Amino acid sequence: MRTQVVIIGSGPSGLLLGQLLTKAGIDNIILDRVSPDYILGRVRAGVLEEGMVRLLDEAGASERLHREGLPHEGISLAFDGRDHRIDLTKLTGGKRVVVYGQTEVTQDLLDERRKSGAGGFYEAANVTPHAFDTDSPYVTFEKDGVTHRIDCDFIAGCDGYHGVSRKSVPENAIRTFEKVYPFGWLGVLIDRPPVDHELIYANHERGFALCSMRSLTRSRYYIQCALDEKIEDWSDARFFDELRLRLPAPHAEALVTGESFEKSIAPLRSFVAEPMRFGRLFLVGDAAHIVPPTGAKGLNLAASDVHYLHEGLREFYAERSLAGIDAYSARALARVWKAERFSWSMTTLLHRFPDTGSFDRKMQEADLDYLVHSLAASTALAENYVGLPF
Ligand SMILES: Cc1cc2nc3c(=O)[nH]c(=O)nc-3n(C[C@H](O)[C@H](O)[C@H](O)COP(=O)(O)OP(=O)(O)OC[C@H]3O[C@@H](n4cnc5c(N)ncnc54)[C@H](O)[C@@H]3O)c2cc1C
Repeated sequence: MRTQVVIIGSGPSGLLLGQLLTKAGIDNIILDRVSPDYILGRVRAGVLEEGMVRLLDEAGASERLHREGLPHEGISLAFDGRDHRIDLTKLTGGKRVVVYGQTEVTQDLLDERRKSGAGGFYEAANVTPHAFDTDSPYVTFEKDGVTHRIDCDFIAGCDGYHGVSRKSVPENAIRTFEKVYPFGWLGVLIDRPPVDHELIYANHERGFALCSMRSLTRSRYYIQCALDEKIEDWSDARFFDELRLRLPAPHAEALVTGESFEKSIAPLRSFVAEPMRFGRLFLVGDAAHIVPPTGAKGLNLAASDVHYLHEGLREFYAERSLAGIDAYSARALARVWKAERFSWSMTTLLHRFPDTGSFDRKMQEADLDYLVHSLAASTALAENYVGLPF
């Protein structure tokens, strides 16, 4: 087989890149080690920046998003027993975010890909990129016991943090930066209306809490927990009792609870691999970087990588120019590090660390007070939350 671009990974990065390339007339094949149903069963992000929405428009996969997505013009920081609203739209001259689940984004992209007839192999085993330091790279994989080879011009490694692409790069060609946080997020999904129409980020002495949502009838709640907590020790009743304790009284009273249908613990990590290009192999999205979810940036960062890469590839096929491809890593990383900084600072500001002493606590309080009372500080928060331009 031969194609122009092999995309390893059918998460949001791979599907979005595939759709944009197909729209530009560039042939591509997507490979994933699991099935589309498995991919759609993963519950993850839910806050989309305008840049991500723009790319989904370009990919022709945003019709349902515009119908069902919930535009949000503000968020609340809850501390000192009350809410402090950050007016994202007023502070950024009209920008906002849209709440629409990653599962829905993925479903819409999968639907569009099926309609376009572009190729792909799911449940592909031992996917391996080869010869990406030459002008003739190729990818091998096994499907139903048969080994296949796809020759191509470029390989896009969109295969997430645990994927094969980054691991295929020689150790001396890559540098990684990592911070692992000493806590996790215990999250539940529940078919009950959200406690508020906007997201609430709570800093409380018992630990961080987040009230989020996927729709007007489906809520996503998180509480900070120790890394050694076990899901089976957390009944829904215990979870919601703990959540109530961390929220201002009006929200605690308004919280509508019930039986959750998804419950999981996610560890928190900051991670970046540099560079993001190795000859004809590019790392995209979680394959190159991870952020703690506190700033809602993971999915959105994947989108900005896709933007830079698809521009570079389009330029290559239209003009035979390598300029965009050569600039990919530096352009993507400049934005990645700013989102890493924002996600790290939100995490540091809002969580209780095991070694948070009385001085650190005072620093958090002063930081929060400054954030909500200084126009400059609130504007900086809002500008980062809605997403830096790309
Ligand atoms: C539990 C959890 C909660 C999250 N919550 C948020 C949130 O609230 N907000 C936010 O912005 N972000 C969140 N994120 C991050 C966000 O989901 C990711 O940034 C986003 O999924 C990145 O997309 P991706 O396509 O780069 O990677 P992925 O979604 O990881 O997709 C990678 C794909 O590659 C495939 N793959 C992996 N290895 C191979 C291989 N060897 N061969 C072939 N295929 C392979 C995988 O099966 C997968 O389909 C969360 C992530 C997790 C894990």
